[in-house]
Amino acid sequence: MVLSRDVKSSPEQSSRVSSTLSGYRLAELIRQRAWVEIDQAALVHNVQQFRQYVGPKTNLMAVVKADAYGHGAIRVAQTALQAGADWLAIATLGEGIELREAGITAPILILGGINSPEEIEAIAHWRLQPTLCSPEQAQLFNDILAKLGKVLPVHLKLDTGMTRLGTPWPQAVNFVGLVQSLPQLQLASLYSHLATADDPNTATMLQQQQRFTTAISSLRQAQLPIPQLHLANSAATLHGPAWHYDMVRVGLGLYGLYPAPHLGDRLDLKPVLTVRAKITQIRTIPPGTGVSYGHQFVSEETMPMGVVGIGYADGVPRNLSNQLKVLVRGQPVQQIGAITMDQMMVDLRGIDNPQVGEVVTLIGQDGDRQITADHWASTLGTISWEILCGFKHRLPRILV
Ligand SMILES: *Cc1c(COP(=O)(O)O)cnc(C)c1O
Repeated sequence: MVLSRDVKSSPEQSSRVSSTLSGYRLAELIRQRAWVEIDQAALVHNVQQFRQYVGPKTNLMAVVKADAYGHGAIRVAQTALQAGADWLAIATLGEGIELREAGITAPILILGGINSPEEIEAIAHWRLQPTLCSPEQAQLFNDILAKLGKVLPVHLKLDTGMTRLGTPWPQAVNFVGLVQSLPQLQLASLYSHLATADDPNTATMLQQQQRFTTAISSLRQAQLPIPQLHLANSAATLHGPAWHYDMVRVGLGLYGLYPAPHLGDRLDLKPVLTVRAKITQIRTIPPGTGVSYGHQFVSEETMPMGVVGIGYADGVPRNLSNQLKVLVRGQPVQQIGAITMDQMMVDLRGIDNPQVGEVVTLIGQDGDRQITADHWASTLGTISWEILCGFKHRLPRILV
């Protein structure tokens, strides 16, 4: 009661508090607990590497879905476009609207499936470009767009072996022929997606390419128009020009990671994302002390322990508990006990006179040492893509 009256009676005061918080004071506060640093120079470098590699005749589509793999979609999109990307790709309508609301005018492809009239209307309104995956979907788009009196560029997806979205490749002629006949749809590109481009065994990838080629020949034979063609994600792009067609769709590589170790010598890529947190308390624990939930770590001797202000709610997977190494003063330090929602503990025996407020690097460079998302991924038996897009919005993104 008192609280609500106070708030009502002093609107100026409450707005002053919030504007102070969102202004420079917030910038000061941001590095107090845990944060993500985005290295813009590294991002520019990676975009330029791909830009040069694919040459001027191939468009570079920056894939910025899932908040640019956790890096912050708006800034990444702006930077990538300035550095030479031509197109953007996102997965959902909401992600596309976020970019348009930020004032981005570059062409944006929605990679995901769209089926409701409301979404179609929004796509037209925001000048986004949809992927069409079936003749039924093409018909629906045409009907809704006819009611709106609008024409939309559309991108047709063939399934050549990924077995996710798309029309089966043998039906390319029917699909393209239908879209060609629908007055509200403008055929902008034809594409497919590879299932095994990061596998050293290229048999499946080559089979998919063969199917794509066959589909394109069948369109030629049927005297249908051939729009822009694209097939490559980061891994296929790194396989060389035969995979580039009119455009490449690059995600992971822009963020400075290699899709697979055997593709690591094609370009010089630099990781863009760093995750750091601070030590918020230092304790000395006696021998036989169980640490954190479940006491998965028990001390064998008197030892200094640090509590670090980051946890699984920030995107540090709990399954890394007791297996994670972090960097303090450029030295590897072992994380101990279960990682909790907001905090985790580290073994500070190797650090001379550790201090509260010291910075802990979870992913990134500290001194001569570097930890990448690949390290976490291999410990967890997953892929770096999942690690990167797992960092949550509670971690402020700071440009460096
Ligand atoms: C996510 C995605 C990409 C980008 O893949 P990377 O391996 O991160 O380069 C390309 N194409 C499609 C259809 C995707 O969904």
